[in-house]
Amino acid sequence: MAQNLQGKVAIVTGASRGIGRSTALALASEGASVVVNYASSSGAADAVVAEIEQAGGTAIALKADVSKAEEVDQMIEATMAKFGRIDVLVNNAGITRDTLLLRMKPEDWQAVIDLNLTGVFLCTRAVSKIMLKQKSGRIVNITSVAGQMGNPGQANYSAAKAGVIGFTKTVARELAPRGITVNAVAPGFIATDMTSDLNAEPILQMIPLNRYGQPEEVAGMIQFLAASPAAAYVTGQVFNVDGGMVMA
Ligand code: NAP
Repeated sequence: MAQNLQGKVAIVTGASRGIGRSTALALASEGASVVVNYASSSGAADAVVAEIEQAGGTAIALKADVSKAEEVDQMIEATMAKFGRIDVLVNNAGITRDTLLLRMKPEDWQAVIDLNLTGVFLCTRAVSKIMLKQKSGRIVNITSVAGQMGNPGQANYSAAKAGVIGFTKTVARELAPRGITVNAVAPGFIATDMTSDLNAEPILQMIPLNRYGQPEEVAGMIQFLAASPAAAYVTGQVFNVDGGMVMA
């Protein structure tokens, strides 16, 4: 397989589990040195690093709550100290605090906005300074079908994910003159810890392909956007990996 990220460095936020884990493995398979960011699951993050190293790749685990500016700055400083450059940022870390609007507490709202939207801003701002100097880079933001079509019980989450789409388009325009691409990937229902407690039956009725997606299927799209020479002329776009849920 082509190793399009040989000698390059990728940061994947929330890479200890789920879609982020699969993305870290996929980018390492392209030859990238990967920063496996996590919030609390140090054992799981270390296991991702070990899996990458066993396959002959390079990775480090870095703990940082990416909703906090100081921790993001420390993560970027540690990445630069270790690897000296940053070529790919995948803004993947995300949480849900689902409940209907009338029961939603301000703290449920704020926690989701702080990580799923402000975290994307903080990481992108910090990394873009480095990419602008390098005059190259690829940024992939993970949004959701909930940000496109809404989902009862997810006012906080869908607002944050819709915000990520607007953010992606603006930053794509701002960074394009320096050859940096910025795209978004919108998964539907993917089999991870985030969806493990949901009642599958009504969900499957909304999915034309009639199954949950696998994390590797989302990682494949992220890998294309982050690594493939064929994606060099693609920016400001949203790509759905959702079994056909949203057909725009
Ligand atoms: P997941 O399995 O629940 O994993 C979440 C990841 O985010 C973990 O690695 C977690 O680290 C990390 N994380 C949580 N809080 C963090 C923080 N404050 N700072 C840094 N990292 C943090 O989630 P997933 O299902 O793979 O989802 C990944 C992304 O895809 C999210 O943005 C999600 O909104 C989006 N998405 C998922 C689906 C789906 O169906 N699964 C659908 C659409 C969009 P720890 O292990 O340390 O907690």
